[in-house]
Amino acid sequence: PISKRLQTIAAYCPAGARVADIGSDHALLSAYLLLNNIASHVILGELNEGPYQAACRQINGLATRVRAQVRKGDGLAVLSPGEVDVICIAGMGGQLIVSILQDGRNKLPGVKRLVLQPNVGEELVRRWLYENGWQLIDETILEEDGVIYEILVAEVGEPVVPYEGQDRMTTELFRIGPFLWQKKPAILAQKWEREKNKWESIKKQIESSARTEASEKLTHIQADLDWMNEVI
Ligand code: SAM
Repeated sequence: PISKRLQTIAAYCPAGARVADIGSDHALLSAYLLLNNIASHVILGELNEGPYQAACRQINGLATRVRAQVRKGDGLAVLSPGEVDVICIAGMGGQLIVSILQDGRNKLPGVKRLVLQPNVGEELVRRWLYENGWQLIDETILEEDGVIYEILVAEVGEPVVPYEGQDRMTTELFRIGPFLWQKKPAILAQKWEREKNKWESIKKQIESSARTEASEKLTHIQADLDWMNEVI
């Protein structure tokens, strides 16, 4: 069985969709999409040789391998325009996901849905979507093996702010996520509690090192902690 994280990503791929799995690594997501007859066709993209070979082996072992193509290359460069309905990019930092989308933006026309799972830097991804004509349509947060993951789903459209009482995206909504903020699952509070603890301990380390040039950094961390304490 594949991870809950990858299953949740797969659940956002509509039945019959042509799916791109960018940064496929082991190809577990693509294999799952094929074995469960979710995707009609899968294109896997991998930048690095080792994971590319691993993906080829995984796909070659499937009876449904004719419905998959493994391609080596950087981000969306492996795709031709109009080739897929859904693009999944999972298990990378938000900054890398944004640069893949930005560099590959000429491949996006015709794509109906993006399913993105940044390991960090979710805010950057939400901002990119908002500024580039993608409407966030759902968000999920989940915990697996002690790690908390967020999955962001977007479709082409005018950005809307689903959180009642807000008429525009605020820093809070970009950072926390409008759907997550609306649904307020228990795990969301845990995520931010962990974030606070992480920055508290970084702050203590800097303070104990007593370096004067650290004061600007400390002011910044304190401002962020104040924000978290106030908002969350
Ligand atoms: N998507 C899988 C998942 O979520 O389980 C694998 C995540 S793995 C941590 C990230 C993969 O992305 C690595 O195999 C890495 O080689 C690949 N990668 C990194 N940058 C890439 C890029 N610009 N284009 C394609 N693949 C990339």
